[in-house]
Amino acid sequence: MTAPLFDTIAVIGLGLIGSSVTRGVKARELARRLMGYDISEDVRARASILGFCDEVAATPQAAVAAAELIVVAVPVGATAAAVEAVAPSLKDDAIVTEVGSVKAKVIRKVLDVLPARAAFVPGHPIAGTEHSGPDAGFAELFEDRWCILTPCERSTDAAVAKVTAFWQGLGSQVEIMTPEYHDIVLAITSHIPHLIAYNIVGTAADLEEVTQSEVIKFSAGGFRDFTRIAASDPVMWRDVFLNNKEAVLEVLGRFSEDLAALQRMIRWEDGKSLQDLFTRTRAIRRGIIEAGQDTQAADFGRPYRHKE
Ligand code: NAP
Repeated sequence: MTAPLFDTIAVIGLGLIGSSVTRGVKARELARRLMGYDISEDVRARASILGFCDEVAATPQAAVAAAELIVVAVPVGATAAAVEAVAPSLKDDAIVTEVGSVKAKVIRKVLDVLPARAAFVPGHPIAGTEHSGPDAGFAELFEDRWCILTPCERSTDAAVAKVTAFWQGLGSQVEIMTPEYHDIVLAITSHIPHLIAYNIVGTAADLEEVTQSEVIKFSAGGFRDFTRIAASDPVMWRDVFLNNKEAVLEVLGRFSEDLAALQRMIRWEDGKSLQDLFTRTRAIRRGIIEAGQDTQAADFGRPYRHKE
């Protein structure tokens, strides 16, 4: 048997992403020992029952004390605090990585609290579902998905190589980009689509109340897909918008302009422009399918495998 990639890995935050990491690490034998910690006592208790770590530590310091790799998987607004909590207990040459959906601002906050002896390799697996918590995770979540790494001034080449091997070990393909580029790409591909889903479902709910109509009862496929996306974790998404404010506002500005153009086409009954646009967007859809990024469910690109 080949030696595992790491002797000890610690995962901080045992929700959807953290517990999927631990399940994947176990399934693929990437560590000899796997420690876990979550700030929530209930989550720690549930994680112990589910048994996806070798040990669920009572404190973050105990979780990381022997770890070569620390994976922080908490909402992005809590990432720096989670790193600060473990800072005094990090081993020499420990590698800290994280999985947050926003990079530039979170990296700046982490660099303020990271001790000099540790390396830091920020990352973002492009994989998820609208579910959260330790029961929602599964070992295959990252298989055949992208994981973006956004190295910063504390990412040594050796640490980037190890974190790359880690995600490849979980079945992902790794892409490297700058934090700023990541944030603008994700604003358009993920953050704005979520914002639109939250907005349209909110508008429909208001409309139903005001008109006493049955908007939700008769909702067809398109709206149902929006409701699934709009069921995503409120804390995680609150933190995404607060921490990727600039990129989201910039993309939202362009989106609003394009929406106004659509409004004009409808008002002036400009069928040709509408048809041209819809033909162009159809080609984009074909491109996504050809790139292997399509799934049956509108849920961030993962096949839906859990209880509905
Ligand atoms: P989740 O299911 O809500 O899990 C997060 C867990 O972290 C919760 O149990 C939370 O406990 C715990 N936590 C919060 N602050 C902590 C701290 N300081 N120390 C230790 N544990 C703490 O969320 P998730 O979906 O796994 O998301 C985790 C991260 O992955 C986020 O940064 C998100 O942006 C990123 N991500 C998510 C997806 C997705 O589709 N969900 C995809 C890619 C990346 P409490 O609930 O008690 O606060």
